[in-house]
Amino acid sequence: MSRIDLHLHTTHSDGSLSPAEVLRLAHKAGVTALSITDHDIVSGIPEALAVGADLGIEIIPGVEISSRVGNSELHILGYCIRWQDSELIQRLAALRESRHRRNPQIIEQLRSLGLDVTYEEVRTLAGTDAIGRPHIARLLMDKRFATSAKDAFDRYLAEGRPAYVARELPVPADAIGWIRAAGGVAVLAHPTWANVSGEGLNSLLSTLKAEGLGGIEVHYSTHTKRQTMDYLDLAKRLDLLVTGGSDFHGITKPDIEVGTGRGDLKVPRRLLDPLKEAAIGLGPP
Ligand SMILES: [Zn+2]
Ligand SMILES: [Zn+2]
Repeated sequence: MSRIDLHLHTTHSDGSLSPAEVLRLAHKAGVTALSITDHDIVSGIPEALAVGADLGIEIIPGVEISSRVGNSELHILGYCIRWQDSELIQRLAALRESRHRRNPQIIEQLRSLGLDVTYEEVRTLAGTDAIGRPHIARLLMDKRFATSAKDAFDRYLAEGRPAYVARELPVPADAIGWIRAAGGVAVLAHPTWANVSGEGLNSLLSTLKAEGLGGIEVHYSTHTKRQTMDYLDLAKRLDLLVTGGSDFHGITKPDIEVGTGRGDLKVPRRLLDPLKEAAIGLGPP
């Protein structure tokens, strides 16, 4: 059985490795198909396609869009998207704009706490247009204000911590709609983030499905066997596609490897065809 990984981040958003570097790790791990799913950006895809062709790794064009409903931040993965679609590219640029408004506010909060950090330093370190909190966490590590990314989040950046600034986010229905308009299949990422289980999750997924959701990320680095089975069961009951991936970020999530997650992740290749067929089935918008 061959292994795939449909959830990977690169330097184009908050990952610490380039698409080429991520693909080389994937190749070593025996991954035969993958999706680069950077946050709100598709600019890493051309490099992935070029290197994938060299290494014999199939590339599924992907993206991960953050959305919010109530108190839960839901991430919506888009697969088999027409990544050069101009409307999609514009939507994603607008989402990144809202991050740009938030990041300087976070820096201001950190400065008011007495930490000597500037937004310019974050921009230099990030080297991408898609700056996120993990970049700020890395700056805090570099300047020895935190010992790890987790420490930076726990002390300053996470919700409820002193430098937390809420971000405007689209509702899931919008994110799902944008992905579908670009010919893609929308999938709920890391469903544990929804902070609901049992009947609550069932009804959330039913709502999202009515809004166009096509699948759920059943296989994920931090899922327990029990969670994987529960999500598999839910996917079956609601007739949603099953996907999976590591959510590799490199240095900001050092315990997670490409393809194998924390060691026991194995996303089977047979999940790929149904995903591709669903994208074709959606047809032109
Ligand atoms: Zn996510
Ligand atoms: Zn992710």
